[in-house]
Amino acid sequence: MKILQDLSYNELCALMESLGEKPFRASQIYTALASGLDISEISNISNALKEKLLLEYENCAVKVEQKLVSVDGTEKYLFLLSDGNIVEGVYMKNNYGNTQCLSTQVGCRMGCKFCASGIGGLVRNLTSGEMLATVAKVNRINGGTIKNRAVTNIVLMGSGEPFDNYENTIKFLKLVSSDKGLNVSLRNISLSTCGLVPQIYKFSEEGLPVNLTISLHQPFDEKRKELMPIAKAYSLQEILKACAYYFEKTGRRYIFEYSLVKGENDTKECANELIKLLKGKPCHVNVIRLNEVKESGLKSTTEKEAYSFVGLLEKGGLSATVRRLNGADIDGACGQLRRNYIELKK
Ligand code: SAH
Repeated sequence: MKILQDLSYNELCALMESLGEKPFRASQIYTALASGLDISEISNISNALKEKLLLEYENCAVKVEQKLVSVDGTEKYLFLLSDGNIVEGVYMKNNYGNTQCLSTQVGCRMGCKFCASGIGGLVRNLTSGEMLATVAKVNRINGGTIKNRAVTNIVLMGSGEPFDNYENTIKFLKLVSSDKGLNVSLRNISLSTCGLVPQIYKFSEEGLPVNLTISLHQPFDEKRKELMPIAKAYSLQEILKACAYYFEKTGRRYIFEYSLVKGENDTKECANELIKLLKGKPCHVNVIRLNEVKESGLKSTTEKEAYSFVGLLEKGGLSATVRRLNGADIDGACGQLRRNYIELKK
């Protein structure tokens, strides 16, 4: 069965025409789906039209299977997909708005050592409509509408590698920012990649003003290969070259993620090497403390050490901040909650 949310507004108009329906039906359906409704819940179209749609399309693209709320207010969701797979999402309340962190794949094939998402490998890509439906549901649950959204910001930092699911991710960005739908500003969306160089070049040409974030985590290539297998394919110099191209094409600065792992990448030597690599570049470094995942055995750096690491970077002339660790008590790290859920079901 297909996912109706995969269709753009124009594609939905064409579908209505092919079904012999009036064009304004497309607008009604598009609005309803963007509001987080399932097909059966749309009240202003006929049952006959719903039945026609349900012959080919899933009634419910994603269903909220579980919702956990952290002591810090962060909400973590497990979504059930129509084929029985599970993905997760996180909703964080901030003073400037609310951010949804979403998954782009079920599992991941990048195999980063510290990350729970990759432990079982890649199961499948999410479609653009499935990604969109997770936003629509979370927005609705938090009292948002398409005119007055609860979800104001989006980060593609859940499970999966967005650039390993490139076409669906690009279509999702177009769908979620469509003024016919949720109309989330692309400038409020961040996409994080572990560093797939060809896709960084391709993305630079898309004309989408999304914030590009790259997971760096180690300034020495040889060590980075141990932490992130993708480093065997692309060196840091190749990544930096692609980032320079991105800046040249878009005029947008880029961000590096740096998750501190005790004794691995939190040394003075690492800070100095980072400064050497990044000084003078139009970039910012987001330092986070590792969210410990039991399978990896890796330990987190303390908060105090994280601040002194950032202090070293700043002294070296970099723009850097320590990012808050959200929802650690509810398995906030990518892929943790899905893994625990699957283990419990066994
Ligand atoms: N595949 C994309 C998006 C992944 S998640 C990427 O690699 O960028 C977003 C960020 O969280 C990445 O920087 C990722 O390396 C980091 N991350 C994953 N697991 C983590 C953990 N347990 N603790 C801290 N950061 C983690």
